[in-house]
Amino acid sequence: MLSTDKSQSATFVDDDDVRDMPVLNGKIYCSPRCGCKCTKAAFDRATKEANALAARMGDGWAPEVWENCGWHYTVAKGEMTIHIMHGRKRHKDGGFVAESYWASFKPASIEHGNHTQAISLTADADTPEDAVGFVTQDARSLIQRITEALAAVSA
Ligand SMILES: [Zn+2]
Repeated sequence: MLSTDKSQSATFVDDDDVRDMPVLNGKIYCSPRCGCKCTKAAFDRATKEANALAARMGDGWAPEVWENCGWHYTVAKGEMTIHIMHGRKRHKDGGFVAESYWASFKPASIEHGNHTQAISLTADADTPEDAVGFVTQDARSLIQRITEALAAVSA
């Protein structure tokens, strides 16, 4: 996190944050914390693919690119996130080859004392639209089942 020392009007970054920041060195674009020699070309590819996927999904979808022994990305809207599924296959630049997609939907968590129950649904598919569609269908059918189960209890 960037912070400002008001007494000196200087902006500085603490050591932990520096370790998370990718450094460009020739073709390598990688942070000290990662150390996997991720490439600038793979970063550029992930950024381009993330932006294209967000545009493909439509209004309100936002891309996020991050580094973890390679450049990864997701796009999200509200509580729905689309992830890329990839195997070992890589592009020449080190970028991951997207093989399919999975969507995760985490609409709520319920706190009960010191115990939290998170609601989370996921589905995978060949297209991002189908992944989101399957999770949406699952969520609707879950709502239906919960409604019916509650009705049976209170009848
Ligand atoms: Zn790296």
